[in-house]
Amino acid sequence: MAAAAALSERGRGRTAPNPNVGCLIVREGRVAGRGWTQPGGRPHAEAMALEQAGDAAGGATVYVTLEPCAHESPRGPACADLLAAVKPARVVAALIDPDPRTAGRGFARLRGAGVAVTEGVSTDLARRAMAGFLTRRALGRPHVTLKLATSLDGKIALPSGESKWITGPESRAHAHLERARADAILVGRGTFKADAPRLDVRLAGLEERSPARFVLAAKNPSVPSEREWNWLDSPHAITSLPADHLLIEGGAGAASAFLAAGLVDRLLLYRAPILIGEGRACIGDIGLSRLADAHGRWVLADSRMLGTDRLEIYERKR
Ligand code: ZN
Repeated sequence: MAAAAALSERGRGRTAPNPNVGCLIVREGRVAGRGWTQPGGRPHAEAMALEQAGDAAGGATVYVTLEPCAHESPRGPACADLLAAVKPARVVAALIDPDPRTAGRGFARLRGAGVAVTEGVSTDLARRAMAGFLTRRALGRPHVTLKLATSLDGKIALPSGESKWITGPESRAHAHLERARADAILVGRGTFKADAPRLDVRLAGLEERSPARFVLAAKNPSVPSEREWNWLDSPHAITSLPADHLLIEGGAGAASAFLAAGLVDRLLLYRAPILIGEGRACIGDIGLSRLADAHGRWVLADSRMLGTDRLEIYERKR
């Protein structure tokens, strides 16, 4: 399932409104097929993996991050039907499909065809890999990641505004990878004015993955830029974004506005081993009146060194 979740990540940010599913077909201990939802949402992961596996899919074990779809669409057959036709021995799935057109019917159809089904395997991995789709389904908005790159004392710039660079090259490369995994990025007005031309994906081979760009501003901020920008007048306007994974890149104003609105699901905290003292804080007022309310909101999901910096990833408890 970890391999299927890794395959699912390949489609992340490119399959909306379809889920970025990953699928692995294993026959007699060997991988016979790999699939992930293709850009634009078709073919589905299972269809791609079945195509690769060919005859080897019969009697095989199929690992899939989401319940195979049970609804036919004009764009292709239902994956539950494709699977039922080739008769794998077993389908191992992480999550049930929250789409009401499937929601258990995919599993039922497979069982009805004599295929053993195991549900609920490695659900955390699958939830992370498909966070955008699942958040859109559950909350009607994209999954939101906030990136903070700070000193040990939580500062993002000197009082003069000098901010390049606080974190090291490894952290900045990782942040670019995160940008490629999002289908939309957002910055505040100040960051936009200072950095607009730089906010794209500058990793070899990933240039095409540059996400749609948004500025949090009351009205259209007309600053010359090589690429197209859109603007959002409030954090709550993200419900209308044509994206499932939104990355907030800064600055402190945009970060605070989204935190105050309770609209951040994941924090990427890159911390450099430097002290700044007097300087600009990474966030401002987030509407907290009691310290007790600050507790219990965030859970550490991952932590690692990037060069001399430390990256911590926190997830919002809901
Ligand atoms: Zn499908």
